Amino acid sequence: MRRISVFGATGSIGQNTLDLIARDPDRYDVVALTGGQNIDQLARDAIRFRADVAVTADPALLPALRDRLAGSGVEAAAGEPALIEAAQRPADWVMSAIVGAAGLRPGIEAVRQGATLALANKESLVCAGPILTAEAAAHGARILPVDSEHSAVFQALIGEDLAAVERVIITASGGAFRDWSLEDMARATVAQASAHPNWAMGQRITIDSASMFNKALEVIEAHEFFGLTPDQIEVLVHPESLVHALVGFQDGALMAHVGPPDMRHAIGFALNHPNRHPLPVERLDLAKIGQLTFRAPDEARYPALRLAREVMETGGYAGAAFNAAKEAALDAFIAEKIGFMDMSGVVEDTLAQISPDLGLQNAPMCLDRVAEIDTQARRIAAALAQKN
Ligand code: NDP
Repeated sequence: MRRISVFGATGSIGQNTLDLIARDPDRYDVVALTGGQNIDQLARDAIRFRADVAVTADPALLPALRDRLAGSGVEAAAGEPALIEAAQRPADWVMSAIVGAAGLRPGIEAVRQGATLALANKESLVCAGPILTAEAAAHGARILPVDSEHSAVFQALIGEDLAAVERVIITASGGAFRDWSLEDMARATVAQASAHPNWAMGQRITIDSASMFNKALEVIEAHEFFGLTPDQIEVLVHPESLVHALVGFQDGALMAHVGPPDMRHAIGFALNHPNRHPLPVERLDLAKIGQLTFRAPDEARYPALRLAREVMETGGYAGAAFNAAKEAALDAFIAEKIGFMDMSGVVEDTLAQISPDLGLQNAPMCLDRVAEIDTQARRIAAALAQKN
């Protein structure tokens, strides 16, 4: 039996992970499930999967979670310390699917105890990639990508020499507004930005797909995960969302990963790695699909892509500042304080204000400083959003 924990179990990735686990229950022993506000779902799943512990991130919800778990034998816990304690419980495989920088600490604790980390929480690598990868190396833990593009690159690299890679192309659907005018995008509502044409995902990543902040995070994630230089990473708009990524080699060959837009493929790949098992995903009928289209992204529509390159060039704590400013700008958009196209301005101005603090000053990256930069960037971005 493999001991499994799922962080962010009540979200879109978490639910897809539990869907796969439920299809093969005898293979897994569920240790910890965690959630945020949705304690009904958390308690239901914790009982169904006979988890040892269920953790909500919100301490105010602990009494209600305890009520729902009464008599089930599942322990209830709450708050960040409880999330960290749950990540320290021995497990063989841990899904990191909390949304945002809040996913970083549990992921680090999971690799410190040697678990394989299935990483959906791209923010961990964006904010503190060098720390997470160094901790994993020091404790013999494996990190497997769950983002579909990075899983695609990982799969295209099996048996290949990383030194022979010339470039990596990650694709983007273009999100909800790929065919909208800039004027219409400036007036877009939260509901419109929350409707993805191809993928069913959590609200925050769906809005980030429309602004391409999600793609910007993924570019930085690819830089951190595969050790690629910024100019080795390209983005192509591919409205069908069937080719997830391509790897270009020195001899001119391009290896593409093609699959349906269903996260259970990338999750299942990470769950079964290094083997492949049958997965309940659609088999593509390419003759019926007929054609696949690609186009270069228009950077006027998507300033986030330029900002990602600047962040990689700056290095140090720029990723942590970028992500925190992006999260604060997204909060302001969801709260209808700023418009859709204002988000990139808030992030860019935050980075400009914070820039002298982003270097490493010849010291290794440290988690406390990541947290400080995160707080500082959120404060600046929230103030800028207020002025808008
Ligand atoms: P969701 O919003 O659907 O789920 C987020 C999960 O995190 C929920 O369990 C939520 O709890 C929990 N959560 C929210 N805030 C906190 C917090 N402060 N502390 C602890 N837990 C919290 O997100 P997704 O599943 O869409 O995305 C999760 C991660 O996976 C993100 O990093 C995203 O970028 C990445 N990802 C997602 C993909 C997708 O298809 N959805 C694809 C590739 C990557 P609750 O709902 O109970 O409040």
